Amino acid sequence: MEAVPHIPSGRVPKPFLGVYFSRCKIYGRLYPGRDDLYFVGNCPRCGFPVKIKRGKEGVKAHILDIACKSSH
Ligand SMILES: [Zn+2]
Repeated sequence: MEAVPHIPSGRVPKPFLGVYFSRCKIYGRLYPGRDDLYFVGNCPRCGFPVKIKRGKEGVKAHILDIACKSSH
């Protein structure tokens, strides 16, 4: 019985997206939102909200640079 390989959901750590808040010069993480289509989070320093659409690439590629404190 060669089943399609599946990922055991109980053993996979929650995915996250590493980001760098360039204006505050601090690293942070975004976690999947409620609908699982976006990574959401806030700058730990200024609270700037971030929402990034989840895609096949970009998640593992490199740390995203986010310009928080957009009111500058
Ligand atoms: Zn910030």
